Amino acid sequence: MKYIQRPTRYNYFLFIFIFIFCNQLFGQDKHKNDLPNFIILFCDDLGYGDIGSYGHPTIKTPNIDKMAGEGMKFTSFYTGSPACTASRYSLLTGRFPVMSGFGWVLYPKSEKGIHPKEFTMAEALKEKGYTTGMFGKWHLGSTKKEYLPLQNGFDEYIGFPYSNDMIPPKWPSIPLLSGNDTLELDPDQRKLTGLYTQKAIEFIQQNKKKPFFVYMPYAMPHVPLHPGEQFAGKSQRGKYGDVVEEIDWSVGEIIKAVKKAGVAENTLIWFTSDNGPWLIKNDEGGSAGLLRDGKGSTWEGGMRVPSVAFWPGKIQPNSVNSQLTSTLDLYVTFLGLAGINMPTDRIIDGKDISGYLFPNKKMVVAPKSFFYYGFNQEIFAVRKGSWKLHIKTYSQLKIDYFNGEIPLLFNVDTDPSEKYNVAAKHPEIVKELLEEIEKQNNRVAAKPDYFTEMK
Ligand code: MG
Repeated sequence: MKYIQRPTRYNYFLFIFIFIFCNQLFGQDKHKNDLPNFIILFCDDLGYGDIGSYGHPTIKTPNIDKMAGEGMKFTSFYTGSPACTASRYSLLTGRFPVMSGFGWVLYPKSEKGIHPKEFTMAEALKEKGYTTGMFGKWHLGSTKKEYLPLQNGFDEYIGFPYSNDMIPPKWPSIPLLSGNDTLELDPDQRKLTGLYTQKAIEFIQQNKKKPFFVYMPYAMPHVPLHPGEQFAGKSQRGKYGDVVEEIDWSVGEIIKAVKKAGVAENTLIWFTSDNGPWLIKNDEGGSAGLLRDGKGSTWEGGMRVPSVAFWPGKIQPNSVNSQLTSTLDLYVTFLGLAGINMPTDRIIDGKDISGYLFPNKKMVVAPKSFFYYGFNQEIFAVRKGSWKLHIKTYSQLKIDYFNGEIPLLFNVDTDPSEKYNVAAKHPEIVKELLEEIEKQNNRVAAKPDYFTEMK
C-alpha cells in the first residue's frame, strides 16, 4: 500500500509560490477581462422627439434605431437637470445637482468647478483598473487644471471645456484641449463630431484587451450648429437634422469599432442626451415630441430624453422600458456591473437598474423611488411612480401654461404631455408629494454634501 507523501517544507513553499505566480499571471488578467466595457454617447440638447425611433418624421437615424432594435429603448428616462453643466455633474456622480450646489450652468470665466472630493464614475472605474477616455464637451467648471477631466478620472481627453456657443465676440477664444493643454483655439467646429469619433475609435482599438470606459459628450446638436462637410445640406430637417444625422453616423462607427475590436459582447453602450431641446433657438433647436416645453424647464420636455442601451447577447433585443429611470442610475448600475462598492460617505441618488437590462437578474430598485426636478438650488417638481407634482414652473419661452395655478399634479403615464391638472382630484397624493419636497428642501438647505459654488 502506497501512502501519499506529506509535503516537505521545500515542496510546501514551492506549491505556494507556483499558486501565487499563476494567480498573478492568469487570474488577475482573467478577472479584468471579465469586467464589461462602458461607452456613453451623450448628445447636447437633443430632444425626446428628435430620433426616428422616438417618432421624428424626417430626421434619419438608422444606426440609433438599429441600436434600439437590438437593445433596449427607455421612454421615461431623465437627465439630472434641464441645463448642461448640472446634467453632466449628475451623470458623472450619480447625485441630484440641486442638492450639491451644481444647479445650473458654469461659464468660461467661472472660478469654480467640480468639487475635488466628488468621486466621478471615471475615478471609480479607473481605481478598478479601467482605462478611461473622454472625447467631447466637459463643462464642469473653470478651465483651471484641477477642474479638468484628467484630474477627475480620465486618462485621456480631447474636447471643449465648455459649450460650443461660449465663443468670441461675447467670450474669449475657446480652446480645444488635449489633456490639460490647448491644441487649438477656435477650431473649425464642422470637424468636431468627426474628430471625437476618430479619437474614440482609436482609443477602443488601443484598449480592447483591458477594461475601458469611453465618455463621448458630443458638441452637437447644441447651437451654433456645424454639420461636417459630408452631412451639410443633406437632411430634410435642415441644419439641425444634419448635425443629428452626423451623430447617428458616429454612433454607427463606434458600434462598428467595438465589433471590429472583438469586444461587442462585453461592452455596454448607452446613448442619451444631456437635456431637452433648446426651443428658443426656433428651427435651430430640436423637438421634445409629445412632451411639454424644453431645455431650461422642469416640464417633461426639459428633462425627459431619448435613451438607448445596447449590449449584444445580454440585453433583450427590441425591448422597451417605460419605468422611471435617469442618468443618475448609470453611475450606480455601471459601478455595480464593475464590482465596485458605492461610496458610503455621501448620498448617491441613482439606483441600480441592471434588473431592467437583464431579464434573469432580480430587480433591486427601491419600490419608492422619487425623482426631483431642480433648478439652481431649488426643487420645482417631484415624480413618484406615475405622479408628478409641480410647485413652481419656468419656461424659457416665457409661457405660463396654467396661469399661475400651483400646485399642479399630472399622471405622466396617462398624460405625458402634462395637459390635465388633476391636483383637485387627488389631494392625498398632493399631500404626500409636498411632504417629500419639503423633506428634500431641508436636505438642500443643510448643504450636507460636497457643495460646489456656482460662480
Ligand atoms: Mg445641453
